[in-house]
Formats: sequence, C-alpha cells, structure tokens
Amino acid sequence: ETIDMPTMIQRLVDGFRKSDEGRHKLTVEVQPRLSLFGRPAEIESVISNLVANALRYTQDGGHIVVRWHSEHGAARLAVSDNGPGIAAEHLPRLTERFYRIDSGRSSSDGGTGLGLAIVKHSLEHHEAELSIDSEPGRGTTFSCVFPGQRLVAADAA
Ligand code: ATP
Ligand code: MG
Repeated sequence: ETIDMPTMIQRLVDGFRKSDEGRHKLTVEVQPRLSLFGRPAEIESVISNLVANALRYTQDGGHIVVRWHSEHGAARLAVSDNGPGIAAEHLPRLTERFYRIDSGRSSSDGGTGLGLAIVKHSLEHHEAELSIDSEPGRGTTFSCVFPGQRLVAADAA
C-alpha cells in the first residue's frame, strides 16, 4: 500500500502537538510528494513511538524535529531531539524488549520498554535500518533508512 508520508507525519505530529500542550517545540521537515510502499499501521507506530519517546525524555522547552526525505536513492525518516541523550553503552541494547535506562526522568516516567522493540520489528518488515546517534547532554536522533525500491516519488518520472 502506498503511504503518503508527508500527510501521515503531519497528522500524527498535529495530534502530539495537541496532547503536548506547548511543552515542546515540534517541527516537521518533509520532502513533498515522497511516498513509501509499506504497511500503514506499522509505519504509523514507528513514527508515533519515536516522537512519543522524544517528547517523554526531552525536558520542557525542548525541540523535536521530524524529517522525511530521499537521499542517495533511499529515504530517511529521522526524529531528532535536544534532550538528555543516551550514553553509548546503552545503545546496543536499546531495542531489546523491556530494556530501559534507569536514570532520573526515564525510570520515574513509567514506560514498559517495548516501544523501540516494536519499532525495530516494524522496520524489519520494510527492510529498513534503524540507527541511533546520540550525544549525552545534547540530544538524540533516531534514523530509519528505507531502501529505494520502497519509494514512490510522484515527481520522479
Ligand atoms: P514504552 O515505549 O514501551 O512506553 P519506553 O519508552 O521506556 O517504554 P522504549 O521506547 O523502547 O521504551 O525506549 C527504551 C529506553 O530508551 C527508554 O526507557 C529511555 O531510557 C531510552 N530512550 C528512548 N528514546 C529516547 C530519547 N529520545 N532520549 C533519551 N532516551 C531515550
Ligand atoms: Mg517508548
């Protein structure tokens, strides 16, 4: 099924913006008319889990950016925040079920540790790669790179 990603991202971010009640700045930067062939419910859960994490773990006043664009024939979905970051030692296990970082806000804020495991599983169905770039104290970017065969670019013809 062809997923109109700019429209899906905008709709989900609009919903998060409402429930966030102005605690964070949320920005969308998408390449227009760049669609993805995939399973809508799974892609929606990827976007929702990554944005929900960024909002949950980033201090009030923080900034979250959701990006979607093509690059080198593939396409990248990226969710960036300027929150606390994640220490390198945790990165390899972050997508394991029930893995959570036991620190301040994260542990008191009651997630179950399943979100990123679901993200990883959904991305596997799309031959997509998840990468995590984080600088403690500065923020984190979660990137999902989808192979070119899954892209549907309206103006590529
Ligand atoms: P759930 O998503 O099931 O409600 P959760 O958010 O704790 O619970 P994951 O989404 O799998 O679980 O995330 C695992 C852990 O990774 C989190 O507990 C948190 O410690 C860390 N984490 C995830 N996203 C971020 C982020 N953007 N910034 C800092 N830490 C993060
Ligand atoms: Mg989560």
